[in-house]
Amino acid sequence: MDKNIVKRNELLARKVIKGLESRNMSGYYAADREEALKLALSLIPEGSSVTMGGGTSVHEIGLVKALKAGNFNFIDRDEIADKRAAMLMAYDADVFLASSNAVTEDGVLVNIDGNANRVSAIAQGPKKVVMIVGMNKVCSDVDGAMKRARNVAAPINAQRFGLSTPCARTGACMDCKSPDTICCQFLITRFSRHTGRIHVILVNDTLGF
Ligand code: SF4
Repeated sequence: MDKNIVKRNELLARKVIKGLESRNMSGYYAADREEALKLALSLIPEGSSVTMGGGTSVHEIGLVKALKAGNFNFIDRDEIADKRAAMLMAYDADVFLASSNAVTEDGVLVNIDGNANRVSAIAQGPKKVVMIVGMNKVCSDVDGAMKRARNVAAPINAQRFGLSTPCARTGACMDCKSPDTICCQFLITRFSRHTGRIHVILVNDTLGF
């Protein structure tokens, strides 16, 4: 990455972290994927039950691989036949892993969901939420974050899951009410009531969608 982009991201991350802290969430800066992995593991005590809802960024830093190889109870929903049971397990987990579809410069998290298992677990349930967020997901404000979620994250995810939505065909949101829509629920996290619950690791890299 160009050194000026690296510097800009580093400076912007400081602003986002300040915003997160003002909202009773913890923010961290990782210069690269390796540092992000170390930081994430430092937030997850050995023996913890850990689950996740999607999260390409979580995979990209090698966190899933490390948890599976380590002394953790990693609940892999892909290996559980009963999908409803797998989703319900997330609410009682020690740690829930996710990314965020977008984060504003002043620390608001914006997420959209079709099944709502991911946004509901971010909102409540798991004792701790650890998010891995590339600096490519930082937006100026909530309006920008919503636009990013619906015009960048959603079309790519719709394509990824082979869904029949207008955005999968056009690459942009058409505000559909398709049965396949992944924009059923929007979660805007502007404050965390519970101190020490939500941790956001900002990675100076392009991660996820
Ligand atoms: S509302 Fe429909 S078209 Fe728009 S991003 Fe969501 S799924 Fe795609």
